[in-house]
Amino acid sequence: MGSVQIVTTILAAAITAVAVWLAVRAVMKMTAVIRLGQPAPERFGDKGARTKKMLVETAGHTRMLKWSVVGAAHWFVMVGFIVLSLLVLEAYFEVVTPGGGLPIIGHWTIFGLATEWIGILGLAGILVLMGIRLRNRPTRPGGRSRFTGSTMWQGYFVEWVVLLVLIFGFVIRGFKVATDHFEYPVWATPLSHAVGAVLPAWAAGVSVAALIKIAISMTWLIVISLNVTMGVAWHRFLAFPNIFFKREPEKAAGSGLGPLRPMMSDGKPLDFEEADPEKDQFGVAQVEQFTWKGLLDFSTCTECGRCQSQCPAWNTGKPLSPKLLVLSLRDHAYAKAPYLLAGGGKDLTGEEKATAAQLAHVDVLALAEAEKPLIGTAEEGGVIDPDVLWSCTTCGACVEQCPVDIEHVDHIVDMRRYQVLIESSFPSEAGVMLRNLENKGNPWGAPQNTREDWTKGLGFEVPRVGEVDDFEYLFWVGCAGAFEDRAKKTTRAVATLLNEAGVSFAILGEGETCSGDPARRIGNEFVFQMLAQQNVETLNEAFEGREKSKRKIVATCPHCFNTLGNEYGQLGGEFEVVHHTQLLAHLVSAGKLTPVQPVDGGVTYHDPCYLGRHNRVFAAPREVLGDSIQGELTEMPRNSERSFCCGAGGARMWMEEKIGKRINVDRVEEAMATGAKTIAVGCPFCSTMLNDGVNGKGAGEQVEVVDVASVLLRSVKPDAPAGEKETESVAG
Ligand code: SF4
Ligand code: SF4
Repeated sequence: MGSVQIVTTILAAAITAVAVWLAVRAVMKMTAVIRLGQPAPERFGDKGARTKKMLVETAGHTRMLKWSVVGAAHWFVMVGFIVLSLLVLEAYFEVVTPGGGLPIIGHWTIFGLATEWIGILGLAGILVLMGIRLRNRPTRPGGRSRFTGSTMWQGYFVEWVVLLVLIFGFVIRGFKVATDHFEYPVWATPLSHAVGAVLPAWAAGVSVAALIKIAISMTWLIVISLNVTMGVAWHRFLAFPNIFFKREPEKAAGSGLGPLRPMMSDGKPLDFEEADPEKDQFGVAQVEQFTWKGLLDFSTCTECGRCQSQCPAWNTGKPLSPKLLVLSLRDHAYAKAPYLLAGGGKDLTGEEKATAAQLAHVDVLALAEAEKPLIGTAEEGGVIDPDVLWSCTTCGACVEQCPVDIEHVDHIVDMRRYQVLIESSFPSEAGVMLRNLENKGNPWGAPQNTREDWTKGLGFEVPRVGEVDDFEYLFWVGCAGAFEDRAKKTTRAVATLLNEAGVSFAILGEGETCSGDPARRIGNEFVFQMLAQQNVETLNEAFEGREKSKRKIVATCPHCFNTLGNEYGQLGGEFEVVHHTQLLAHLVSAGKLTPVQPVDGGVTYHDPCYLGRHNRVFAAPREVLGDSIQGELTEMPRNSERSFCCGAGGARMWMEEKIGKRINVDRVEEAMATGAKTIAVGCPFCSTMLNDGVNGKGAGEQVEVVDVASVLLRSVKPDAPAGEKETESVAG
């Protein structure tokens, strides 16, 4: 070992020792913070499915590849990071001696070949990512981007480290070539040989370059260890467990967001008959009341802003950004952690748990952080502003786009639950809806005995469950479908089409109440449970003696469709639920309904969030529309998984939209820009919102918003009475 190698070896060992010590300390700190969360025992089931999902999502980059160029570039950088870590390890042999290399595999040509090309593609990948970050920097001319609010220096730092580590990998190899210490052939390692051709034959160069590579890598480790909230770096490690512990790992990729997480206390679903707010946790009022998976979510956020770029609230000037919400919760959790780890925290009656002695040595900043209300305005020092919390439509775009499977919607609803159930603090205008649900079983407060009014004048009998036993489908009409004038036309169109196709169906009539979706999304789990239990009982009775595959329900409202199909199972109601567009698509393809008259003027289709993104029903409505117009749909730029919300989900239908641009107007402008004369929808709430948007733009005469079922009915029965169509509904 020469004198240069003695120095390089000592320096490499010293910086590595410091970095490893800091990294161990950082990992222990992060683990301690994440463990502050509540139990989530359901996250440990089905380890096989979890492992498979984690491998598919990470190795296959199934989420990132939706952003194809970024996804491909990131894939090479990720693979480069994992594989080329071996080359950082190899650098420790190279600081000792210029001819050093990894034992055994370091002599394999295949290893040289693989690392060479992964290095080259990694270089290309990181340059692409750097270009994209620069092009989308928030300070660029043109305003906000998905990186607005992200800690930009951290992203630049990580990218430069990757770039320099890759470059120095080739410099080391180049010096080895130049000094004849390199054993891989030119065909396997062309770039290394090209670099070697321009470098001097300086034997110490290998060890010096290896030291620089180690120093860059260890500087990175030191910086991220001193910044445990630096998700852009830590996600390289945390993404794996975060995806492993995701909810519903057994679901196939792209099978929807699934049910909302039940209200949990101490790792168990809350039973309202026995629940006690002084002993049981009602939603989330303190950051440590999220589960450990929630705290892991917050720690894993890469600040990439994909969620933000798709969020309807953020895109229309509301204060909510799912990314900024996650970052606020993360920063608050880590800032409050010293107080919590010292034994601090409030019990469920609001009393301090720690003694004065326990808190005596806690940093004042942590004590001040602990005093912040989780939900509160800027003046109150709140972590999350109420306007942020109540702006969410639960559209699921953030969850859909997040590359590391962060579950924003569950966290938002958990915070809403505490605000509604304990603080009674929510937008006051939604109070009427909640009262109507409790007292009348529907959000409009309509008399229950008018639930069947839509059947009048149909020209055929609509049977009720109990009057017939052998119905194939139970037609779940929904509150909008029963009481709201425009939606009633969809209900009548569906009934007419089912009758035309010879499908045996029956309705619950006055036996039906609201599915509970608006109550659940606003956070009133108590009212949801009350309504859902009643419905589950009614439905179980209606299907008594039938196996699950024969307990078929067709629903026109995607919110009912989602709640009955995905959430009633939590209360013992197992049904086969289809959306009316799915059943209609089946009936058309089976030849039971025949579109005859093409619907002209151009049709575009708006994907309802709870049908599309939440339940992956993208094809069926498009098939029905394609058959009806006997041609191609005109798609909006934001469609299918990336469809833009109408603004009504998450009980926003019942709240005023006072901040920013109206979401429905934004969507209507996009729909109208297609030039289509018909905007087809598959949801009564979308119908209301988009109709309001069209009318607000004074375009009611030129553009019509109409349900897919009505479009089909016009094509199947061009002479059907106007009452079965929705032509007059725009004005109405
Ligand atoms: S669910 Fe939709 S509205 Fe809510 S934060 Fe996510 S993207 Fe925004
Ligand atoms: S929450 Fe997910 S999508 Fe949003 S910034 Fe963080 S990592 Fe990206």
